[in-house]
Amino acid sequence: MRKSAVTAAELSSAVRNIPDFPKPGIQFKDITPILADAGLFAGCVDLLCGNFQPGSIDAVVGIDARGFIFAAAVAFKLQAGFVPVRKKGKLPFETHEESYDLEYGSNCVAIHTDALKNGTRVLLVDDLLATGGTAAAAVKLLNKIGAQIIEVTFVIELGFLNGRERLQGANTRSLIVY
Ligand code: AMP
Repeated sequence: MRKSAVTAAELSSAVRNIPDFPKPGIQFKDITPILADAGLFAGCVDLLCGNFQPGSIDAVVGIDARGFIFAAAVAFKLQAGFVPVRKKGKLPFETHEESYDLEYGSNCVAIHTDALKNGTRVLLVDDLLATGGTAAAAVKLLNKIGAQIIEVTFVIELGFLNGRERLQGANTRSLIVY
């Protein structure tokens, strides 16, 4: 295992660009090469934790599905709980739901109504910020529940899509911006 800290530039060069996936015109940012490399994965999780110390965050909320991978690791490192925001229909207990528009059609995300207590200090984590629809819906769910969003953190941000403008003024940080 390497000793030096991983840089955002190293993470960026490990991301694999897949043209026209899952449909024509979309360039998919494949983060699996980061996950497969022990040093890069650990370094990426360190960078996601940023300046947060164990005890400063109560729960890390991850967004279905790639967000879970990073959020769970960040939660473990910060000694915080992990809470999933899932696609509608996947969570077994009572849920709050939030729908949002996609380019074609719409999507809906959900959180358990009892997942977080009012005022809980939360870090929201996802792999990638594109148009911001998904993260904005997750922010709305957290606001509905009364969680205190300390930061919304992404591995990758597609800056040219201005997704962060939709995050209702939440503190937003991304490791890599394209
Ligand atoms: P959006 O709601 O447009 O911000 O899209 C964000 C969600 O869709 C994230 O959960 C990503 O995993 C996924 N996503 C959107 N665009 C891409 C892309 N170009 N490459 C990889 N994942 C993407």
